[in-house]
Amino acid sequence: RFDKDFGQHILKNPGISDAIVEKASLKPTDVVLEVGPGTGNITVRALEKAKKVIAVELDPRMGAEVTKRVQGTPLAKKLEVILGDVIKMPDLPPCDALISNTPYQISSPLIFKMLAMPNPPRVAVLMFQREFAKRLVAKPGDALYSRLSVNVNFWATCKHIMKVGKQNFKPPPKVESDVVRIEPLIGSARPNIAFEEFDGLLRIAFNRKNKTLRASFGPKEVLAMCERNYKVHCSLNNIPIDESIVENVAVDDNMDTMDVEMDVEGDDDAGNDNAEEKWGGFDNDDDDEDMPTFFKELGDEGKEAKTPSKHPKTKIALIVRAKVEKVLTTTDLADRRARMCDQNDFLKLLIAFHEEGIHFS
Ligand code: SAM
Repeated sequence: RFDKDFGQHILKNPGISDAIVEKASLKPTDVVLEVGPGTGNITVRALEKAKKVIAVELDPRMGAEVTKRVQGTPLAKKLEVILGDVIKMPDLPPCDALISNTPYQISSPLIFKMLAMPNPPRVAVLMFQREFAKRLVAKPGDALYSRLSVNVNFWATCKHIMKVGKQNFKPPPKVESDVVRIEPLIGSARPNIAFEEFDGLLRIAFNRKNKTLRASFGPKEVLAMCERNYKVHCSLNNIPIDESIVENVAVDDNMDTMDVEMDVEGDDDAGNDNAEEKWGGFDNDDDDEDMPTFFKELGDEGKEAKTPSKHPKTKIALIVRAKVEKVLTTTDLADRRARMCDQNDFLKLLIAFHEEGIHFS
């Protein structure tokens, strides 16, 4: 009866549905967004406390079920059911609180969607598989520390609330669950930078989280992206773009010693005794399931970047490369590894890149 493809594990312990709603500290004026109401176990409790519940449900059978459950009661007029995939909605509906016994397939995209909202909810109480919940609260140096952990800590505060055993669900899932309470920073407390900028930088850093940041920013695909975005910045600010060719520059020369004012005669064996750290390929060692196609496609090509090659470079490419090196050295972050950096390190890095006109979205 329940569809595992939709992550349908219905809460059969009413105490847990109560606790989820209670931890959201709902006010009578609140609009609540519930993702995946299922048969409505959490929904009815939220309807009793809030002004309105918007329930987004992928499975029309479940949508009908939750509607039927409140039919003919005073709660019915407070419930709005939207049938569809919450992740495919261009924006989440504005709300004061978000609650969900989250279908495990959408854990990561749902969190990102909420954190990216310019006006996020005051509070989110969400149930996740334990492993995922641990990633949310992971700290620098923890094995599960990831781009997700940094984003959550930067845009919100996150607390673990309770453990939920698998026997509380029908059918029981394979793994245990955890409930977390996330309080996004709102209003003037929200960092005054674009979500896509901060996250864009983290995507690069965490693509190779065990390598130094210098290695993360070394691959030619990353520099090409910085160059594209820098050119947009130049166009917007009437800064001339010098596309003239600087012949025979080794693309693998040592960034530390590069001088963009000189037409450097490159050498394939440029004495780079730490080539892997300087340029190493994309090893995708982060478990980032929502890595964009751009990075996934790098695969073998990225690995080839370990081998130096020569081809003509433009002046603007060299300028961008020097800027990247300057940012990494002046912030003292070149030799740090993403897995050991906290959100303040990444913010410092982003601000320094912005000062050089380099953007990530
Ligand atoms: N809230 C109910 C409860 O706690 O008993 C059901 C929770 S069940 C784990 C997840 C629910 O989310 C299911 O009803 C499923 O159909 C729905 N769902 C799955 N993927 C979804 C998506 N992408 N958008 C909206 N709802 C989804």
